[in-house]
Amino acid sequence: MAHVPSRESVTTIREDGSRRTLHPADVRGQWVRARRAVAWMLIAFFAALPWIEINGFPAVFLDVEHRRFHLLGATLGLGDVWLLFFAITGLGFSIYAVTALLGRIWCGWACPQTVYLEHLFRVVDRWIEGDHLARARLDATPWRDPRKLLRRGGRALLYLVLCWLVAHVFLAYFVSLPGLYPMVTGAPTAHPGAFVAMMATTGVLFFNFWWFREQLCLIICPYGRLQSALIDDNSVIVGYDARRGEPRGKAAPGAAAGDCVDCRRCVQVCPTGIDIRQGLQMECVACTACIDACDEIMAKVRRPVGLIRYASLNELAGGRTQLLRPRTVLYGILLLIGAVVATVSALSVEAAGFKLTRTPGAALYAANERGVSNVFRAKIQNKSESPARFRLSVADAPVPLTLPNQEAGIEVAAQAEVVVPVVVLVRAEDYKGEFDLRLALTDDSGKVRVVQKAHFIGPGAPSR
Ligand code: SF4
Ligand code: SF4
Repeated sequence: MAHVPSRESVTTIREDGSRRTLHPADVRGQWVRARRAVAWMLIAFFAALPWIEINGFPAVFLDVEHRRFHLLGATLGLGDVWLLFFAITGLGFSIYAVTALLGRIWCGWACPQTVYLEHLFRVVDRWIEGDHLARARLDATPWRDPRKLLRRGGRALLYLVLCWLVAHVFLAYFVSLPGLYPMVTGAPTAHPGAFVAMMATTGVLFFNFWWFREQLCLIICPYGRLQSALIDDNSVIVGYDARRGEPRGKAAPGAAAGDCVDCRRCVQVCPTGIDIRQGLQMECVACTACIDACDEIMAKVRRPVGLIRYASLNELAGGRTQLLRPRTVLYGILLLIGAVVATVSALSVEAAGFKLTRTPGAALYAANERGVSNVFRAKIQNKSESPARFRLSVADAPVPLTLPNQEAGIEVAAQAEVVVPVVVLVRAEDYKGEFDLRLALTDDSGKVRVVQKAHFIGPGAPSR
């Protein structure tokens, strides 16, 4: 007898704690077609990004080895990692806003777990092992049957190849395609780190898509658990219209019947094994399979489609969906503010970095007949893709200062960093005690890139 899902327990876990393997039935329809098109566009986008060059680098290249991150033509160093704050908070607010408006649309349409599982690996399942009934039969077939060995073995092999390919594309984001080529063609011992990373990624992907599957959504992913906090009665979700569907089943003579014929087709196609007719559940990944499945049944029994559809809980209860409400407006405003601040911050990222510190272990100052001097340590970073010559000058100081030996400038290779000593000298007749000063780093064109503050220490005044 078919298992009857319950809101009180996870469908994929039996009473004794063992795993109940799901074999969702295939479904056709407008939503599945649309989702498949989006999924393949996303997969193509993921595979294409390392091939697309902007400003001489892949569109997304997380060059961990050299601690540089190339994103859509911009190059960020470790010193610019603070920009990640905007990326992470922006992502958080986007998730809040989108979920409040459209429920778990991310899960159903764009999450890599759903995209790869539903639109790649399940296609392989169907191709090699047949439909859901054939797959369930194969599960029950003993391993000594050569047909099971052949089909399961063939499927495992194809899974391994696909996981291996996805792992290589993933690796290309960290080493770039030119960097990946010698790793693929060379011996693993020549690139042990990359080889281990690739094998580990392949293994994790294989484990996830072969065995773990919907458990990732049900047990591990925190997003589903946030659903109850993020979704309200006006969020548009995949829902069952109980007002129209109940009482379900064949009508008793003389009694009115709802539109649900209790065929359980919506349960058979559900990749997480739930019954949408029991209401909104944490396990629902909003994949729309039950919408298409029920529409197909409704068409067959000549009733209007949409018994299961995108609708808010308010709408399903006979009311109206209110998209503009305090929380969605607030999320929108916060998103807008965040986007403006992030854009201004990203545009303010300089092509050079400059840090001024005291030289560790050196004397705080030197005093002689020429005057009083302090030695600082300047760390200069050239973030551009070509060599650059920088100069240091006094931007602000209460007394006249000189920077001996700075006439020639400081040559820094592309994407490199140098540390140089900087002597700051005050003539004896100008020295009145310690003071604050600011040094400017200018590039070849004379444009001031960064200004740094320092404190000058000398005799006759308390040092700090
Ligand atoms: S597919 Fe539609 S008609 Fe069939 S059980 Fe589900 S809701 Fe009822
Ligand atoms: S209930 Fe429907 S939308 Fe939700 S996961 Fe199951 S099939 Fe997908």
